[in-house]
Amino acid sequence: DLTNAQLIARREAAVPRGVASAAPIYAKYAENAELWDVEGNRFIDFCGGIGVLNTGHRHPKVIEAAKAQEDHYTHTSFQVVPYEPYIELAERLNALAPGDAPKKTLLVTTGAEAVENAVKIARAATGRPGVIAFTGGYHGRTLLTLGMTGKVSPYKKDVGPFPADIFRAPFPNVRDGITVEDAITGLKNLFLTDAQPERVAAIIIEPVLGEGGYVPVPFEMMQQLRDICDEHGIMLIADEVQAGFGRTGTWFAIEHSGVVPDLITVAKSMAGGYPLAGVIGRADVMDAMEPGGLGGTYGGNPVACAAAIAAIDAIENEGLLARSTAMGEMFKARFAQIGARSAPFRFWDIRGLGAMVAVEFVTDFDTIAPDAAFTKRVVAHALKRGLILLSCGMHGNALRIMVPLTASDAIIEEGLAIFEAAVQAAVA
Ligand code: PMP
Repeated sequence: DLTNAQLIARREAAVPRGVASAAPIYAKYAENAELWDVEGNRFIDFCGGIGVLNTGHRHPKVIEAAKAQEDHYTHTSFQVVPYEPYIELAERLNALAPGDAPKKTLLVTTGAEAVENAVKIARAATGRPGVIAFTGGYHGRTLLTLGMTGKVSPYKKDVGPFPADIFRAPFPNVRDGITVEDAITGLKNLFLTDAQPERVAAIIIEPVLGEGGYVPVPFEMMQQLRDICDEHGIMLIADEVQAGFGRTGTWFAIEHSGVVPDLITVAKSMAGGYPLAGVIGRADVMDAMEPGGLGGTYGGNPVACAAAIAAIDAIENEGLLARSTAMGEMFKARFAQIGARSAPFRFWDIRGLGAMVAVEFVTDFDTIAPDAAFTKRVVAHALKRGLILLSCGMHGNALRIMVPLTASDAIIEEGLAIFEAAVQAAVA
């Protein structure tokens, strides 16, 4: 029988260290919000494969749909022989996306690919090169998306130069004392100093910063970005790769602000555990590229499309949007309680939108110095006790909740009890 230790040794010899893993355990089996490793240890999964499993591990309807598709065909390449599941999913996504304008959807395989394509489409539609992204934003690990990603370590270290015409604007953030007004001033200054607005194709923003720490964009900021984009003919791209598909209590996080973006990038929880991503956008914008300009061999894989349709049905039929909102309230209340009880000076900020919640740890409330070491200890103690957690944030001092929205209250309570014990162990 396999052991974690054997697999760690084999992995070290066979896999580059650049692809790091948060948990030193190897998966054997998983169901909904639980996972078992190769040694038979059980874990509660608050991470969901980095926000991919809003409908849980192996949702029965998702598995059923994927298996049924496998009995027909698994791959033809949509660019050679197209198929209905791609079209049906595009129709569903076009209907779900906010705004009254007709929509079209391109399907690809990864979140980074979705972002790359959104930029290509925005450039083709506007005839302009520039892209503006934000401090702390995360958009992927390919060279264009890395250029847009706003965090050096570990992603951007030693692999530049990055593509030209990518500019960075400040993200409004309480930790850094940056208000919405400051952020908008920063953006307007960027137009004066570096980025001629008539040469900017797109402004891309995560409506809730994901890897950057689960910081929601204040709604008035989003509204001002919409106005600025309209004023200068710039495309507004909402990167919903992590925040979409019910994580925040709505299909797309940007809906909370009432703002309608021109393009939306999606991936992760859209397909319930299968690799699938896409760009949803205004039909006139999406049609900017010539036939043959978009796609890829695997883009919109039929098994992944079938899984995505089933995952979207599950979110609808099982009331997971409302569940997300309720779950978020519950996590915030319990974090506040656990913080007050176990480590009153550590739980500096508890924040989020719907069930996209994070807690940020500091050394003390006077300096609010980020405590990444404490965060690491909480993660390690939690894993030892059977809970999978993942950190985030520019300073690595926040823990984020990506538990399946299908998880029962009992499982979540069990996970929270482990979390509290881990916090206590990390303080000691
Ligand atoms: N955008 C956002 C907001 C993300 O959170 C991620 C992944 N964490 C990506 C893009 C990149 O997605 P992928 O890892 O599938 O390329």
